[in-house]
Amino acid sequence: GGDPYSDLSKGVLRCRTVEDVLTPLEDCFMLDVSTVLDFGVLASIMQSGHTRIPVYEEERSNIVDMLYLKDLAFVDPEDCTPLSTITRFYNHPLHFVFNDTKLDAVLEEFKRGKSHLAIVQKVNNEGEGDPFYEVLGLVTLEDVIEEIIRSE
Ligand code: ATP
Ligand code: ATP
Repeated sequence: GGDPYSDLSKGVLRCRTVEDVLTPLEDCFMLDVSTVLDFGVLASIMQSGHTRIPVYEEERSNIVDMLYLKDLAFVDPEDCTPLSTITRFYNHPLHFVFNDTKLDAVLEEFKRGKSHLAIVQKVNNEGEGDPFYEVLGLVTLEDVIEEIIRSE
């Protein structure tokens, strides 16, 4: 079959990393796992305009679940359902990638996998203590495609 990408796009995908295109953690719309799904919270989720919402425990860097907008189809705001009830029921898998992953590699992963969103982490060994995984943000298929389009 034909090659869907121009040489320019291939170069971009090979050289640039997910760190170059991610949405930084501080800009991510996320929910605390202890949130109650009342009318106000449901409205803010709709307002955010995002399909996939990371769920964190205690700290934003500690992402423990993913909420999909469609998980809310049967949630009645009157019931004040705990978010954890919903995330425990659907239990969507989390996908992680390292910050230095090239865009062509993450594109292949998105094509293979079911989810088109990954959490970007890096190994932080800058401090005195043991190295730890630091969450930098989110990357989606859209971020990769945007980079291809920008290069055309
Ligand atoms: P949709 O799935 O409706 O197209 P979306 O915003 O949920 O919209 P994408 O289209 O994949 O998802 O991503 C669009 C941009 O929004 C990308 O830059 C992506 O990194 C960013 N993004 C995705 N989810 C979130 C989120 N929960 N908070 C902040 N930014 C997000
Ligand atoms: P999601 O938005 O949860 O990722 P989706 O199926 O709604 O999943 P896409 O991931 O954009 O949407 O599309 C996956 C495939 O399903 C595509 O081939 C798309 O053409 C097809 N598709 C999307 N919506 C419909 C629909 N209403 N009827 C039939 N096929 C659809």
